[in-house]
Amino acid sequence: MMKKYYIITYGCQMNFSDSERIAATLEKIGYSPVSKIEKANLIVVNMCSVRQSAVDRVYGNIKNFARLKRKNPKLKLVLTGCVTKYDLKKFKEKFNHILSIKSLPYWKNFLKSRGQTSPKLARSDLGISSCDYLKIKPKYTTKFSAYVPIIIGCNNFCSYCVVPYTRGPEISRSANDILKEIKDLAKKGYKEVWLLGENVNSYKSQDVNFSKLLKMIDNISGNFWIRFTSSHPKDFSDELIEAIAKGKKITKYINLPIQSGDNGILKKMNRPYTVRDYKNLVKKIRAKIPNVTLSTDVIVGFPKETKKQFQNTVKLFKEIKPDMAYISQYSPRPGTVAYKMKDSVSHQEKEKRYKFLNEVLKKTALENNKKYIGKIVEVLPEYERKGWLIGKTREYKTIKFKPVDKKLIGRFVKVKVTDAIPWGLRGKLV
Ligand code: SF4
Repeated sequence: MMKKYYIITYGCQMNFSDSERIAATLEKIGYSPVSKIEKANLIVVNMCSVRQSAVDRVYGNIKNFARLKRKNPKLKLVLTGCVTKYDLKKFKEKFNHILSIKSLPYWKNFLKSRGQTSPKLARSDLGISSCDYLKIKPKYTTKFSAYVPIIIGCNNFCSYCVVPYTRGPEISRSANDILKEIKDLAKKGYKEVWLLGENVNSYKSQDVNFSKLLKMIDNISGNFWIRFTSSHPKDFSDELIEAIAKGKKITKYINLPIQSGDNGILKKMNRPYTVRDYKNLVKKIRAKIPNVTLSTDVIVGFPKETKKQFQNTVKLFKEIKPDMAYISQYSPRPGTVAYKMKDSVSHQEKEKRYKFLNEVLKKTALENNKKYIGKIVEVLPEYERKGWLIGKTREYKTIKFKPVDKKLIGRFVKVKVTDAIPWGLRGKLV
């Protein structure tokens, strides 16, 4: 029987990066990819459980999996990614194997076994408390942009978040491994590397911290951009700002999640900074890196968030004028501290706050984007759609431009910006 696999990935860049290593592992043991799920005899669901909606999406697919299994009784279903013990209960009857991503080097043995892997065994990580699975060479999705995880896990325990429970404590990858991977990518002509981690700026491997690591990567020869995500405001040091400001390859894009513009809510979220700290940090960053693109993450409708507290977030947005923001509506996640708080803000009210903040963002984003009109920017085109080439500028602005020449995908080009909208720029190839 031909071994064919299909991976469904939900969630963040980290999950997509893990899926690249899953693909490489499966191909090493004789599986080949298929573009239609119906043709697979192994389906891997790489799940995200940061938001309830992502878990619901996996649950929503269960019927489809059961239908596929009726058609092909030999079909194996594997669940991996951010799986909480609560999700485990829900899904254990529905999948053949529930496997931790850290046990990826051992998946071969699990997949050989017939039937169900004991969820208990599969979740135990076989005593693995390292990030050794990152040594697996990934099957990169593109030939010009690559994800490079540098740290996994999180020690922060924000009250609403499951990541510290699902991914475990922070483990930094060795600087040598990271540098080796990036040197290889640079030699192959990659134009962009994304350094990934739940909290990249708490990276520490022996005497190398994140600032030092950035400088080391910046010194690798080759023509490529360095991007990174995500950063915690509490770990954003002056040394790091300096490194970003001076780095030649380090792009000036910073995602700096605030989560709320209200001190009371920040405290309940277990985010150890105040709105003033955050504003001062943004001020410092903008003073040292004047052309920085700043994005943030915000949760609206956290338990007991009053209208006034929400307005504090609105006020903060108007002051810091983010270029982009990932706004989400609070959803309780079992096992977290916030889960025990009453989810007091109604769905309608969360929706209303989401829309309101989004309108504020549209204005600040447009205001920032307009500054680019008439300028020539460096762009890495990623794909073609509806008669436009679409990519990102060095500053991480989405830009679409003409004329279309698909050969330019994955190569640096210069584009003159002719127009700005809230979510991006338009331009002409120079
Ligand atoms: S910093 Fe907070 S929100 Fe981010 S992964 Fe860690 S616990 Fe979750």
